[in-house]
Amino acid sequence: MVLNFGPAGIPLDCPQRSTLEGVRYSAKIGLRAMECEFVRGVRMSEAEARIVGAEAARLGVSLSAHAPYYINCCPTDKSKEATAERNLLATAKIASALGVKTIVFHPGYRMGRDSPTCLKQAKVLLEQVLEKMRELKIKSVLLGLETVGKHAQFGNLSENCELSKALGEENTVPVVDFAHVHATREGGLKTKNDFKKIFDELERSFSSSYVKRFHSHFSEIEFSEKGERYHLPLHSKDSPPITPLLQVIKENNYAGTIICETPELERDALKMQEEWKRM
Ligand SMILES: [Zn+2]
Repeated sequence: MVLNFGPAGIPLDCPQRSTLEGVRYSAKIGLRAMECEFVRGVRMSEAEARIVGAEAARLGVSLSAHAPYYINCCPTDKSKEATAERNLLATAKIASALGVKTIVFHPGYRMGRDSPTCLKQAKVLLEQVLEKMRELKIKSVLLGLETVGKHAQFGNLSENCELSKALGEENTVPVVDFAHVHATREGGLKTKNDFKKIFDELERSFSSSYVKRFHSHFSEIEFSEKGERYHLPLHSKDSPPITPLLQVIKENNYAGTIICETPELERDALKMQEEWKRM
């Protein structure tokens, strides 16, 4: 049963600030995953991506990518749809060269509209992106719909399961950000049962096999009635707590990846991994 841990971005203690060195540093300290952050735009050449991808494969570091923050798959201003498509495609191209399995992004913003309206618009847009990915022969990259951290955003767990299912398991996956779920449920993740229900929903509403290859984000988080405020280091408040999550994964033989998004990145990823290994 494999559970990979890794930082969201180049490790803090990596002396050279390049993705290639970030991968090497992650491998050196014993981590098996890393998420490449393109949150402010894709600024990597395909040639560089191929070098990074080959090195990650050689070192056994599984790569994922985070697409730009400004992607909105259900904008009220239709002219902004092209921006979302362009940025998703740019990320998908680089992801393909990197050998990345999942590209993660926040699906969109509600702007006062109901869930079915947002879902319908996002589905059409993402179908177009998938069509263009096929034209470009990008086959092995999954679009990862991340659970959002604010009520004003579109893309909670059940919406992402429904949208992923509608777009096809072979194209799209729901990515659980446990901190965001915790924040939008106003501190709702405390016990093993709280975490188990999330995996049950993934199995029931998306795919029974996904719990054996899930992709996720973990951080502790400060929140208000609107949702997330800011991320906190591991074990600062145990909000949400990592231990029951790891226990649920262990007891149910789930497998996948946990990307650490705390301010301590790889330092906390290592702590999570150590706790996992002790179990
Ligand atoms: Zn996240």
